Amino acid sequence: MTTHTLEGDLLVAGGGISGVCCALAAARLGARVILCQDRSVLGGNASSEIRMHIVGANGMSAGGELQNELREGGLIEEIRLDLAVHNPQRSPALIDLLLYDKCRREPNLALYLNTTVVSALVEDGLIREARAERPSTEDAFLIRAKTFIDCTGDGRLGVEAGAPFMRGRESKAQFGESLAQDEADTKTLGSSILFQARKHDQPMPFTAPPWARRFTADDFKLRPYGQSGFDLGLEYGYWWIEWGGCLDTLKDNERIRDELLAITLGVWDFVKNHSEVDASHWALEWIGFLPGKRESRRFSGQHLLTEHDLLTSRPFPDAIAYGGWPIDTHPPEGVDAPNQPPCTQHHLPFIYDIPLRCCVSAGPRNLMFAGRNLSATHIAFASTRVMATCAVVGQGVGTAAALALRQNTLPAEIAADAQLMHAIQQQLRKDDGYLIGVSNEDPHDLVRQAAQITASSSQTNASPENIRSGHTRIVTKLPSERQQPGLHRWMSRDLPATLEIRWCEPVPLSEVGLVFDTGLHRLLTLSMADGYTRKMLWGRPQPETVRDYELSVETAGGWQSLVSIENNHQRLRKHAFPPIESVTALRLTVTAANGLDHARVLEVRVYG
Ligand SMILES: Cc1cc2nc3c(=O)[nH]c(=O)nc-3n(C[C@H](O)[C@H](O)[C@H](O)COP(=O)(O)OP(=O)(O)OC[C@H]3O[C@@H](n4cnc5c(N)ncnc54)[C@H](O)[C@@H]3O)c2cc1C
Repeated sequence: MTTHTLEGDLLVAGGGISGVCCALAAARLGARVILCQDRSVLGGNASSEIRMHIVGANGMSAGGELQNELREGGLIEEIRLDLAVHNPQRSPALIDLLLYDKCRREPNLALYLNTTVVSALVEDGLIREARAERPSTEDAFLIRAKTFIDCTGDGRLGVEAGAPFMRGRESKAQFGESLAQDEADTKTLGSSILFQARKHDQPMPFTAPPWARRFTADDFKLRPYGQSGFDLGLEYGYWWIEWGGCLDTLKDNERIRDELLAITLGVWDFVKNHSEVDASHWALEWIGFLPGKRESRRFSGQHLLTEHDLLTSRPFPDAIAYGGWPIDTHPPEGVDAPNQPPCTQHHLPFIYDIPLRCCVSAGPRNLMFAGRNLSATHIAFASTRVMATCAVVGQGVGTAAALALRQNTLPAEIAADAQLMHAIQQQLRKDDGYLIGVSNEDPHDLVRQAAQITASSSQTNASPENIRSGHTRIVTKLPSERQQPGLHRWMSRDLPATLEIRWCEPVPLSEVGLVFDTGLHRLLTLSMADGYTRKMLWGRPQPETVRDYELSVETAGGWQSLVSIENNHQRLRKHAFPPIESVTALRLTVTAANGLDHARVLEVRVYG
C-alpha cells in the first residue's frame, strides 16, 4: 500500500443518499469536502446494486393538489426531477451516474470511490484524522479534516472513533414508547435482496438449485405476490424477502447474503413453478448480491429522537430536517415469521422535526452523522430511515457543518449557538429545504423590502404578494398551531404572464433565486415497480413547472434582459450575474409551463 495524506474541511464517510446530499450541500457552500464511498457506485440502498426506491414524508400515496405538499425539497428534489426527465427508461444504472455526475461537477468535492474508511485517530475528544483504504489501487489515505461526518449506515467511522451507539430494540419502559417491545432485545430489522424479472414471448423454464429454499402458499398468506394491477410485481421483486434480523446484520452479513439468495430463488421457484400465478413467460433478469441492510447501529447523539417526538410533532429550535414516513416495523425473523405481516405501518398524525442534535455525537465533539445511523430509538428510526428523509437530514448536516466551519464552531457547540442555528435554518430555506414553520427571514433578500409586487393577472388567493409569504408549500399534516395557512404562490390566469417587483429606492442586484411549483403533492421517485411508477408522472417534467422564462431589470437606462431560459424542469433556480447597481424593478416573464396553462411561482429572492 502507498500512503497519501489528504487535507480537507470535512470528511464524509459513506456515499449513500444521505452522504451524497451531505457532501453536495457542504461543497456548494464552499467547504472543501472529501467523500469516501466503499463501493464503486454512489447511492447506497438506492443504487443499481440494491435498487430500493426513495420514499419519504408523503408516504405511499399522493396528496390532493394544492392541499398537502409533503415531498421533500432541496437536493433530493433536484435529484428526483433530473431523474424523472433524464431517465424515462428507468434504468437503475442512471441513478449511479447522476449522483456521480453531481459530485464530479462540484469543484470543492473530492470523490474517492472504492475507498473504505477503516480507522480514526482521536485526541483530546476530537477526531484528528481518519484512515481509508483503496485496495483496488493498493493505496491508503490519511485524511485530516476539521469535521467528520459518518454516513456509512453501519457507523464505521464513529465506532472507530469510540462514539457511543445503540443496537437492537428498546423496551416500552426505557423511553415511554407504546410501540416498543415489552422487553428490550438485540434484534433488528432484517436485510433483503431484490430481483427483477421480465416477460418474454415464449415460455421460460426455471430450475431451482438444490440449495434454494422450498416454500408453499401457506408461507405467503400474508405476503403479497403476483398481485394484479402491479404487473404481477415480478418486475421489481419483493421487499418482504427479508431475513437476518435475529442475527448480527454486520458480522453475519455474508451468511445473511447466502440465506437471502436461497430464499429469493425459493420464492421465485414457488411463484414460477408451484403457485397459481401464470409466470410461465417470465424469467429472472437481475438478482442482487449485496444485501440491502435496513438496520445495524444507531449513534447516541446530543438528543435521542423518540416515538413521543414523532407523534406530537414536537417543535425543536435546532430543526434541520423533517420526516413523515409511518413508523414502519418488521418482524426480525422476516420470511421465517409467516404468521406475522411483513411490516406494520403505524401512520403518524403529523410530519415532525428532526433536530441537529440527533446528528451530533455525544462522543467526539467534531463527529456528526446522517442517515439511518442517526440518534433515534428503534421505534423513531423505523420512520426516519427512509431515504428521502435521510437525504434532507444529509443536506441539513452538510449545511450546518459548512456554516459552523466558517466561524470555527465545533459541531458539539452548534445547537447552543442560537445565531448560528438561525443562519443554518435560513440557508436551508434559501436552498429550498423545508423546515416546519421556518419562514424566509433573510435580511439580505431584497424582495422582502420591495415596495410593490404586481402581475399581469392572478387567481383568487394566489396574488403576486404570495411570493414573499416566507413559505413555499402548503402543509396541513401538522398540529394547527404549526400550520402556515395560504397558497404560498402566485398563480397567473393565463400565459404569457409577468410578475414585477419594484423598489422605492434603487437596489444592487447580483443574484436572483426562483422557486417554481413541481407538484410536491405527488409521488415522484425512480422505481423499478411498474404499478408504483404509474402513480407518478415519470419520464417528463412536472406539469406545474415553469418551462420558459426571462428575467429583466429596470435601471435608469431602461429595461434590459438578464437571462432567458428554455426547457426548465427544476424547482429551485439560482441565477448569478455580474453586479448591477441601481435596479428599480425586476420582471419575470413566463411564456410556457410544462403542462399547465398558467404560471406558478412560489418564491423570488433578490440579492445585491
Ligand atoms: C430491503 C430494504 C428496503 C427498503 N425500502 C425502502 C424504500 O422503499 N424506500 C426508502 O426510502 N427506504 C427504504 N429502505 C431504507 C433505506 O434504504 C435505508 O434506511 C437508507 O438507505 C439509509 O441511507 P444511508 O445513506 O444512511 O445508508 P446506505 O444507503 O446504506 O448508504 C451508506 C453507504 O456507505 C457505504 N459505506 C459503508 N461503510 C463504509 C465505510 N467504512 N467507508 C466508506 N463507505 C462506507 C455503503 O457502501 C453505502 O453505500 C429500505 C432498506 C432496505 C434494506
